Amino acid sequence: MTAQRIIQVALPVPLRRVFDYLLPNEQHKTAIGARVEVPFGHRTLIGIVLKHASQSDTPTDRLKPITTVLDPTPAVNDELLQLLLWAADYYQCPIGEALQAALPVLLRQGAAMTPQLSTAEQCWQLTTEGLGLPDNALAKAPKQAQLLHQLRERPGTTWQALKEAGFARDALLRLQEKGLAHTCAAPPITNSESPLNLNAEQQAALDAISFERYQTYLLDGATGSGKTEVYLQAIARLREGAEQAQTLVLVPEIGLTPQTIKRFARRFGASVAVLHSGLNDRERLNSWLRAASGEASIIIGTRSALFTPLKNPGLIIIDEEHDTSFKQQDGFRYSARDLACVRAKNLNIPLILGSATPALESLHNVNTGRFQALPLRHRANRQAAPLINVIDSSDHHQGLAAESLLAIEQHLAQGNQVLVFLNRRGFAPALKCRDCGAVVNCPNCDARLTLHHNPRHLHCHHCDFQRPILRTCESCHGHHLEPIGQGTERSEQALNQRFTSVPVWRIDRDSTRQKGALEDLFTRINSGEPCILVGTQMLAKGHHFPKVSLAIILDVDGGLLSADFRGPERLGQLITQVAGRSGRGDRRGEVILQTQNRHHPLLQRLIQQGYSAFAATLLEERQMSQMPPFLPIALVRADAPEADSPHQFLNQLRQSLAPLAEQNAVQMLGPMPALMEKKGQRYRHLLQVRGPSRHALQAFLRALAEHLDSIKTPRHLRWSIDVDPQDMS
Ligand SMILES: [Zn+2]
Ligand SMILES: [Zn+2]
Ligand SMILES: [Zn+2]
Repeated sequence: MTAQRIIQVALPVPLRRVFDYLLPNEQHKTAIGARVEVPFGHRTLIGIVLKHASQSDTPTDRLKPITTVLDPTPAVNDELLQLLLWAADYYQCPIGEALQAALPVLLRQGAAMTPQLSTAEQCWQLTTEGLGLPDNALAKAPKQAQLLHQLRERPGTTWQALKEAGFARDALLRLQEKGLAHTCAAPPITNSESPLNLNAEQQAALDAISFERYQTYLLDGATGSGKTEVYLQAIARLREGAEQAQTLVLVPEIGLTPQTIKRFARRFGASVAVLHSGLNDRERLNSWLRAASGEASIIIGTRSALFTPLKNPGLIIIDEEHDTSFKQQDGFRYSARDLACVRAKNLNIPLILGSATPALESLHNVNTGRFQALPLRHRANRQAAPLINVIDSSDHHQGLAAESLLAIEQHLAQGNQVLVFLNRRGFAPALKCRDCGAVVNCPNCDARLTLHHNPRHLHCHHCDFQRPILRTCESCHGHHLEPIGQGTERSEQALNQRFTSVPVWRIDRDSTRQKGALEDLFTRINSGEPCILVGTQMLAKGHHFPKVSLAIILDVDGGLLSADFRGPERLGQLITQVAGRSGRGDRRGEVILQTQNRHHPLLQRLIQQGYSAFAATLLEERQMSQMPPFLPIALVRADAPEADSPHQFLNQLRQSLAPLAEQNAVQMLGPMPALMEKKGQRYRHLLQVRGPSRHALQAFLRALAEHLDSIKTPRHLRWSIDVDPQDMS
């Protein structure tokens, strides 16, 4: 047996191990990180070469040869491979699954690593013949004539744009057949926007950034303080020093709007590549390849874009770093923000985290000197922070209080726009029997069914169960079922009835389901006419509404009284973000909070002293209760259709690992039911594991994962490990 004939391959299977295969002699030089096709049971899988080995635990005659080497060069370069190996170990995820999550779908399926434009992206122009054709030559084919005219006016138009302008594919192909039109390279996009003037704080933040080495900076900037301009000028400065240097920009899922992309494109032209879930697989792969080749110098994407290969990495930026969408909640449960620190450190480049409401973890990292704070305290438009009023809403059943209605009237009369925030879709969160008090619940979850009016149905927002609206109570057969509480649909209806002369726009997942619907709404809102916006989180994040002067937040109490340890942090972030939507134009904003707990000390701290002081109080509480970021925690979750089995399973696990936990000074709490115990017909329990240090916790979790792999799991039971969990659900 010659050396290096065995290769270790990571495969996309939920097993915490690698697999040995034989390398046929003629393919002696398979690169580490290249994709290979291998036989696996009765299937063929695509895996990544991790290592060349000279021996295997399996006898050589039982090893199978790989089928095909797909890549001459690595699909996963060494830098990313090291990052993913580290992450797989830290998050207790099988390396095959981590690699799978990091690769574009088409590469997972075996597509070649060559760019190929999708039909939609193809650009079209007229041929010399087409250009020379007289206008009346196609009189018998009016559609082709129109298309000819369009391409003469706008050469280099994409098929996507032609389709949107109402042209048929057929007409285009006819022109191509006749030799009048052909595909062409995209016309260069020119950058059309120059940098804005920075204020002193923005300038100081920009000057503090060193591009020579690793450092994480926390750009802690109030809403409207001009964080994006600092990002843009940081990128420009990086490129002054090294023309080829690339920047990776991560934004929350909801924040990657066409506006964001346009802002970067206006400044930097065609060197911007975008990676998000709205693209098709081919478009994603094209962006990924442009980043890998160095052709794209600015890559903007959501969470998984963190794993984009970069030829000349120079800077990583994470906007709205506190956003929960940076943590993957299933499978490979990684935090893109935390891994960005690891990646930036490995690459020895700076990382900028930006937020108006930084996560407690990030503030803690500033306090301990690990991150450097770059504060932006002033709004770029010099407006004072919005004025916050708290209104007792105990009498209003979470509807709008009289003071709120009056304020809306005043702001509308002055020609401004009003935003009403309510984080609950549908008409009402519950349907209740007036006779016996029974509430209509989801048969699959520990949850109430939400009443929707448009279209009329009952809906579970946790498992998607739907049913027609009940006419009679299932408990007492009474006929008096009534909606309880407010959803966005109900607020919309009430506001429409009260304010008949202005439009009311509802913005939530139901009203913006259709592609482009959200964009249409934003265009109408930004026309500036007085209107009322009613909506959920979608309203709270990133969007700029210059004419909104009043923001009303209904139902503050849910977050205040939340049983989850991150509940108050999330509420403070939400209130601050929504409040920041008001007064971004030329007048000072006003905010009204409706609550039944107006004297709650945390709420008072937030309102009177702002998010920083509020966060400092929360950090003190976390330290006292020994919760993250002071003590690292992980959850072992288990769920099953049988009510008892998850609890028993975790209990046994706890007992088997007790000696090991003691050795590592690791504490196990529980098992306890998840905050919503029954969800989607499965019962869910969790075991909390807390370590005195990350190192000790990691050592313990490694052993725990190995133990879980080695025992027989009850049928139908699923388990998972979540390191640095975002919630206890
Ligand atoms: Zn009843
Ligand atoms: Zn619904
Ligand atoms: Zn349900």
